[in-house]
Amino acid sequence: MTEAGLKAITIRSVEVYPLALPLVERLGTSFGNEPFKAAVLLRLDTEEGVTGWGETSAEINPGYSAETMGTSLHVLQEFLVPRVLGQCLRSATEIPPLIGQVRGHPLAKHGLEAAVWDALARHNDLSLAQLFARYLPAGHEPRERALVGVSIGIQATVADTLRIIEKRLAEGYGRIKLKIKPGWDLELARGVRAALPDITLMLDANSAYTLADADHLRQLDDFNLLMVEQPLAWDDIYEHSKLQPCLRSDICLDESIHSVNDARLAIELGACRIINLKPARVSGYTESLAIYRFCVEHEAPLWIGGLLETGVGRAANLAFASLPGVTLPSDISATSRYYDPDITEPAFVLESGSSIRVPQGPGIGVELQPDRLREAMQRWRDRYPYRVPALQGASPS
Ligand code: MG
Repeated sequence: MTEAGLKAITIRSVEVYPLALPLVERLGTSFGNEPFKAAVLLRLDTEEGVTGWGETSAEINPGYSAETMGTSLHVLQEFLVPRVLGQCLRSATEIPPLIGQVRGHPLAKHGLEAAVWDALARHNDLSLAQLFARYLPAGHEPRERALVGVSIGIQATVADTLRIIEKRLAEGYGRIKLKIKPGWDLELARGVRAALPDITLMLDANSAYTLADADHLRQLDDFNLLMVEQPLAWDDIYEHSKLQPCLRSDICLDESIHSVNDARLAIELGACRIINLKPARVSGYTESLAIYRFCVEHEAPLWIGGLLETGVGRAANLAFASLPGVTLPSDISATSRYYDPDITEPAFVLESGSSIRVPQGPGIGVELQPDRLREAMQRWRDRYPYRVPALQGASPS
């Protein structure tokens, strides 16, 4: 459970690259409907000549998270990166104490910490999954593949939804997640279950309900759901602890869990029975490993959620999802589901058993494609030119 035997790195420079990638299909959720996925990539270079990559999965709008592309660029450049430059580190778990004085901004912190994990893994000729396993008890060696499922956004009709589900099942996805919101839930679940009684099905509400909807939500128990994800407020645990006893369906918390302390509170209060761990949402893989250990000790089912990461963030999450304490299928779909092309190679391909093979090379195990990165950065500059000047403040008149 230590960094014993690892060669240290000294951080020489960190560059931030804002970019925008067109989505193959827009993803409709209760937040809206985005045509692009924006992200900030971080390139970290060390005195030893190693380069590590990380990704900050903030969005253009403060929807899923309070953070945005703008806040990420600001906080990384002004506050986070200066705290790690010149640091000699033997473990990426040394990053949270270095940047802990900066409150909040978990997505930005995660991007920086992820670049350190990648650089350390590459410098020590370990895959990222192998490096994670060094921080876990014996018996938690990574698997070759991670079990995955697919998430389907809000469609216009049940028939439209069924067409997409059939397509995803034909591609080989074994777990289907549907986004719901008030007015788009019972009819959807009833229609899908009538057509496909045996598929592994779950629903994600992205905080669209209140505790006053408890009787309504109880009707979801009729549809044999793997789980109902985040029905109530994004920052709530207490009211979920009032809702869970009303449902037979297992509640999974996503937005509400920002730390291992939140996970402990949620499980001990009975607010949920399943945890969706998004490493970015909990500020990085150090906190993710703490949540992983907690869930293993308390036999709480765990899976890895996605924030439409590019190949950089997707590869790292796939490495985490290959750890055996991640017991349910994760939201990490094949590259072709999201981007064509992505900014990394090789692409992630869905294989038998609804699984994706984890890259075995050093670090995240995928390689940046410089031409595609340049194109994605130019797309950000062309499409969102007003964002960067806003960060520089007004000019004196
Ligand atoms: Mg969710």
